[in-house]
Amino acid sequence: MDNLSRLCIHTITTKPWDIEDAAREYSRHGVAGISVWREALEGRNVRQSGQMLRDAGLTVVSLVRGGFFPAAARSDRRTAIDDNLKLIDEAAELGAPLLVLVCGAVPGLALEECRRQIKDGIAAILPHAAACGIKLGVEPLHPMYADSRSAINTLKQANDMVAELASDHLGVVHDVYHLWWDPDLRSETLRCVQGGNLLAFHVSDWKTPTEDLLLDRGLMGDGCIPIRKIRSWVESCGYEGFIEVEIFSSKYWAMDQKVFLTKIIEAYLAYV
Ligand code: ZN
Repeated sequence: MDNLSRLCIHTITTKPWDIEDAAREYSRHGVAGISVWREALEGRNVRQSGQMLRDAGLTVVSLVRGGFFPAAARSDRRTAIDDNLKLIDEAAELGAPLLVLVCGAVPGLALEECRRQIKDGIAAILPHAAACGIKLGVEPLHPMYADSRSAINTLKQANDMVAELASDHLGVVHDVYHLWWDPDLRSETLRCVQGGNLLAFHVSDWKTPTEDLLLDRGLMGDGCIPIRKIRSWVESCGYEGFIEVEIFSSKYWAMDQKVFLTKIIEAYLAYV
């Protein structure tokens, strides 16, 4: 079998499977890593789930996803911080070294204010992350999500925030779906990797037309993202971590997930 030693799949990619099914099938197909969405752990003992994944031979790459810091009311910002502190504990129990942060945004709240609150929120949880040995990864999202999901939309913004907060436990999550369009992508990617701040690399593809802003991501090769070129930038400065397939797609979720998993592996080998 071809080398899948750096292939990681997010549980959300095969959403119809519960985490036990995903672990068994990923492992059986030679997938090396798994990133766990919080929803996949619902109703389960987190520590035991982490052990179950390791027993299946999988590396637990990250817990997804914390963040969502901005809110109009101070009490809601406090609730978000408390929730993130719990997620850091969950990541530690799961044995995941990284908590991915989707930073958040609120319609009607100025983006500058959202960014200030995001920075304050991350600063508030960093000491607990450091105490637990968990890294936090700031994932910039495509600007189409600037209304309600993230006010951090470019790799430069994420790099700048990581530089300002200067912590060994803070870095960047690089997702080609969100970043491929950015004219500064090469230079900011090199800056991120050279600074030792690249914590994760996510892949999928951008379809034309994209029929749903959230649930119509493509499999690698379905769309127009130059994944190999971006990967070469990421690796030119020494990134050797996992390459994580993260796809939300109502079309692929409607498919037999065993067939879909085979397609993921074929696409990974052909287009990544
Ligand atoms: Zn991602």
